[in-house]
Amino acid sequence: MIVMKFGGSSVANAERIRHVAEIVKTQVFRKPVLVLSAMGDTTDHLLEAADGALKNGVVSIDLIKKLHLKTVKDLKLGAAAKDIAPLLDELAQLLAGIALIRELTPRTKDYLVSFGERLSVRIAAAYFNSLRIKAQAFDAWDLGFVSDSNFGSAELIKESWNLIPEKLIPLTDAGVLPVVTGFIAQDVNSNITTLGRGGSDLSATMIAAACKAEEAQVWKDVDGILTADPRLVKNARPVETVTYEEASELAYFGAQVLHPRAMQPCIKTGTPVLVKNSYNPEAPGTRILSTLEKRHLPVRAITSRKNVTLVDIVSTRMLGQFGFLEEVFSAFARHQLSVDMVATSEVSISLTLDAVHDLTSLKKDLSRIANVDIRAGKAIVTIIGDVQRSSEILARSFRTCELIGAQVQMVSQGASKVNISFIVNDTEAGEVVKALHIDFFDPAPGVVSGNTVSAAKVSGAVSTRSKS
Ligand code: ASP
Ligand code: MG
Repeated sequence: MIVMKFGGSSVANAERIRHVAEIVKTQVFRKPVLVLSAMGDTTDHLLEAADGALKNGVVSIDLIKKLHLKTVKDLKLGAAAKDIAPLLDELAQLLAGIALIRELTPRTKDYLVSFGERLSVRIAAAYFNSLRIKAQAFDAWDLGFVSDSNFGSAELIKESWNLIPEKLIPLTDAGVLPVVTGFIAQDVNSNITTLGRGGSDLSATMIAAACKAEEAQVWKDVDGILTADPRLVKNARPVETVTYEEASELAYFGAQVLHPRAMQPCIKTGTPVLVKNSYNPEAPGTRILSTLEKRHLPVRAITSRKNVTLVDIVSTRMLGQFGFLEEVFSAFARHQLSVDMVATSEVSISLTLDAVHDLTSLKKDLSRIANVDIRAGKAIVTIIGDVQRSSEILARSFRTCELIGAQVQMVSQGASKVNISFIVNDTEAGEVVKALHIDFFDPAPGVVSGNTVSAAKVSGAVSTRSKS
């Protein structure tokens, strides 16, 4: 068995769905299970519709209805309109309810966004059947996806590990192509839950791991995991292979390729994950594995995340006082603030947070024991690289920062050591990533590594910043 997951843009309209079918056809002999996202931006449109109902009391599902009915028509699936009509009615009723009571609880929100995936699998399954490929649409809960009740970001409970293969394997063995909703599940009380935005990846890897599939294929609209954000670095290219740890770090630190939790099930079982491009199926994609045999370059990929706040906390107590770290972190816990990077010395702690938080009351709280300095407008630059070559990576990165005049303001090397992160000013992040990419991936011929940036600088590839 293999699992093939297609994201929203891969099933955005009739033409894209036809294309998905072409890809799936070539794999039918491997007993595929299909996992689909909602069509195109349907999840966002559902949330917008909820917003309209909540704020203005307006019920409008026109956009959603039009896309799905047009797709049914374009794929010549007259009968499938009957399959999706009840869902569209139920959705309209739900929105009317939201408009009436002007309330949208996390539980209702999950119920609401579930319609996207439930619609897309029904249309796709109908299309496969029209091609004489025996397919059946499933809502994930009918295939053993049971989660906790943490609406918006639910976790599958351990029983799912047995339930999913129990239901799915007989189907694929019988030659059926199951077309399964990504992203959604049900809690033990049959409330619909979601696994977090982008959660279809996790649905796919969960099926692959629980059913001991050959591999989980995650079909996206890029050629795999890239060495950097292509909007920033024009020479960004796909990475051939990465480890699960590297891929998780990359997902977390801004390479929006996979759901950050998607690797977890496959780490347990060692199931390979293959990231492929549905717009370019010939491209080899990126293979994610537990260990890699050969390594050429020290660095796999470079990412950056902007809009980060740096907090410097310097103890006002005497040196060697115990319990300082505990007090600081319990203050963050009390204020429900999630910390990203941390660096400590004997009397001070520097840490970072996403800029969305209001830190006034935290600052007040901490002022009892420390001087607190809060600086917004920072960015985290993360380098995912080879554990064995961390000194080389650090040396070359800092040299690059120095050459372009970007001040490194905090450094942290993850415990897993695949992740080296540092803080620079938001305004410098783009340049730093570009320059690092040149140094690690595109050294000019004949240039000694680490000096590439100065060469590139001369040739104008990296704009310079005065070091005042
Ligand atoms: N449709 C959901 C989203 O847009 C889940 C997914 O695409 O993976 O977040
Ligand atoms: Mg989506």
